[in-house]
Amino acid sequence: MRKLPIVGETRAAANAAVPRARLPSWIRAKIPSGETYMGVRERVHGLGLHTVCESASCPNIGECWGRRALTIMILGEVCTRSCQFCDVPNGRPLPPDPDEPRRVAEMLASLQLRHTVITCVDRDDLPDGGAAHWAATLEAVRARCADLTVEALVGDFRGDLAAVDVVLAARPDVFAHNLETVPRLSQQVRVQASWPRSIAVLAHALARGTVTKTGLMLGLGEEPGEVREVLDDLGRMGVHIVTLGQYLRPSRGHLPVTRFVPPEEFDALRAHALAAGVRHVEAGPLVRSSYHADGQAELIRSLAAR
Ligand code: SF4
Repeated sequence: MRKLPIVGETRAAANAAVPRARLPSWIRAKIPSGETYMGVRERVHGLGLHTVCESASCPNIGECWGRRALTIMILGEVCTRSCQFCDVPNGRPLPPDPDEPRRVAEMLASLQLRHTVITCVDRDDLPDGGAAHWAATLEAVRARCADLTVEALVGDFRGDLAAVDVVLAARPDVFAHNLETVPRLSQQVRVQASWPRSIAVLAHALARGTVTKTGLMLGLGEEPGEVREVLDDLGRMGVHIVTLGQYLRPSRGHLPVTRFVPPEEFDALRAHALAAGVRHVEAGPLVRSSYHADGQAELIRSLAAR
């Protein structure tokens, strides 16, 4: 496990595409510190769990962990894919740990949250893409945390809709799958994924009646008109929740940031998405797919009740 910065700027911001002095004034991450942050960190590491907060060098870790919000990453810490924006290590992962679902449930029970996000690395090495492990995790969490709403932020299972159904059968309160960017850039950004396949996965979850969510990063070379077109399509599909955030380059080995999108442009895109029919939009420079998800428990309950 990488060593986390305790003081100073988070690694994502420190490694961003431009020197710190040239980061726009609206990109400022909270310094990870404080008793609550340290307590979450100790518990995560003590239980041998992984989080995307650490693995992807999320700039919000100080803020989120400071209020006990985190995104546990299951199925190990090594991904079988090589998306060009992502800081999660890739390579050949270990077999799934059958005890991990229990430890995830223990961690979440100790935090006493109302809503949480669980995600995973892509496991193209497994015949079911890790779907059975997902189901076991969701069931273990439900057994320990009856009042917790859970968002499953999953990969595309290589388009295997039977595997998607295994996850949906375990009844996540939200089914999330990120498109990450606009169709024109999809192959360049998510090398082993495909735009039509991701749309098919989202459409499948919607057809099953699940509250569905997706997210895009801006600053990868997309045109504003392309983003608005995607938001129009998501509204027409009936996707319930969309997140829009600024891409920050984790290292010089990742795709460069093409531009820093100002907060008022995020506001305009939020308004556009809502007008297109998306029910809830989180949009802003530091928004990540799980950012402020802990504040959406009531919204999710109301959407699920429709
Ligand atoms: S935004 Fe998500 S990934 Fe980042 S620290 Fe918060 S919970 Fe973790």
